[in-house]
Amino acid sequence: MKADCIVLGAGMVGISAGIHLLKRGRSVILVDRRGAAEETSYGNTGIIQTEAIMPYAFPRQLKKLMTYSVNGAPEANWHYSALAHLAPSLYQYWRNSSPDKVAAASRAFRPLASLCLAEHEALANHAGVDGMMRRTGYLRLFREQSALDAAIQTDAKLRDTFGVKFETLDAAGVRALEPHIEGPIVGGILMPEPVSIGDPGRLGKAYAALFLKLGGRMMTGDARTLARSPGGWSIGNVDGPIEARDVVIALGAWSDDVLGTQGIKVPLFVKRGYHMHFKPRGNASLARPILDVSGGYCLTPMTKGIRLTTGAEFTWRDAEPTPVQLRKVEPMAREILPLAEKVDPEPWLGRRPCLPDMVPMIGPVVGKKGLWADFGHQHWGFTLGPVTGRLLAEMMTGEATFTDPFPYRTDRFS
Ligand SMILES: Cc1cc2nc3c(=O)[nH]c(=O)nc-3n(C[C@H](O)[C@H](O)[C@H](O)COP(=O)(O)OP(=O)(O)OC[C@H]3O[C@@H](n4cnc5c(N)ncnc54)[C@H](O)[C@@H]3O)c2cc1C
Repeated sequence: MKADCIVLGAGMVGISAGIHLLKRGRSVILVDRRGAAEETSYGNTGIIQTEAIMPYAFPRQLKKLMTYSVNGAPEANWHYSALAHLAPSLYQYWRNSSPDKVAAASRAFRPLASLCLAEHEALANHAGVDGMMRRTGYLRLFREQSALDAAIQTDAKLRDTFGVKFETLDAAGVRALEPHIEGPIVGGILMPEPVSIGDPGRLGKAYAALFLKLGGRMMTGDARTLARSPGGWSIGNVDGPIEARDVVIALGAWSDDVLGTQGIKVPLFVKRGYHMHFKPRGNASLARPILDVSGGYCLTPMTKGIRLTTGAEFTWRDAEPTPVQLRKVEPMAREILPLAEKVDPEPWLGRRPCLPDMVPMIGPVVGKKGLWADFGHQHWGFTLGPVTGRLLAEMMTGEATFTDPFPYRTDRFS
């Protein structure tokens, strides 16, 4: 079987790239070992983060580092056994978290963030699911006035430099917006522009249906079978090999598996995260996602219930699940929102694909003709999948790109 392009990975990133390539006249086969949007793109918090400009940097304050090093804060959890494995990537992550490097990463995110919602809206409209877009913004909640004041200062800088909008609320203002919030909340910051989705996996599947409607094909296969072929590249499939001149690696946290088979090393690491759904107690409800800043977790109204999503866990990608962060933040969540019993039999585990400079790789894989990268979207792959898919498709088809792709080049760690 042949096509112009094979896209490896049917998460939000790969599906979106596939659609953008189809729209530019390319024939595309999307390959995954499971169904569309069933991994990380399924279980996330579902926020299209139009404010996604200031990346999650490695902490540099001694006090915070000391707290994290002993797993003393619920937003981060380390497996000490994985430290030697993680050390090279984390050292680079720490080096890239200096203020000037974070500013450079923010500049790289700005053109992506400014178009991320428009690109989602275009796909959602075309797929007939624009009703899934909840235009409520999201709310960051604070338990300490000093933390709220510091966040207001940081947000004011982001507003002045990048135009990111925010609204400050006192405790009464929070309750006016979300009447069921209770407990020790001193105030909040509303990010008014982000949009949230009540079932991120369903949005991914709706985009996959659009991909098929536009003439794309989906196949089951193992991306690790990627090999050179006379016409370009091939992938093994139960019905025989699939061949194409161009291949896009959009495998999220698994992208390095395939690059490794081609002799290419990238310092990809994962920040794992968990979710659990809860039934609301009584008539409790939320109108929008909330982030409890002191626990680094979110509560989001979803089709399945209130979804609690955790911060970052640093360990081997495939280590057994250790949902200690869920156990730590569940009592905090119950303090601020009336929650009843759990909905899921087991916690869900997802893997954020991260690069040490916090910027995704988008573009040609240097030295491997016909191989393209679209991965490393870290905390924002659900947000940025459609816009980075557009950028990649513009590069692949020789169109003028909407932004300079230089910051996302694939050889920047070589
Ligand atoms: C708890 C949590 C909350 C988050 N909240 C948000 C949020 O609110 N907003 C946001 O923008 N982002 C959020 N993220 C991040 C976001 O979910 C990810 O960045 C995004 O889903 C990555 O998409 P992807 O398509 O690159 O990867 P995935 O969705 O993981 O897709 C990768 C695909 O590759 C396939 N694959 C892997 N190996 C192989 C193989 N060998 N052969 C064939 N197929 C293979 C997998 O089956 C999978 O379908 C969150 C993440 C977590 C963990």
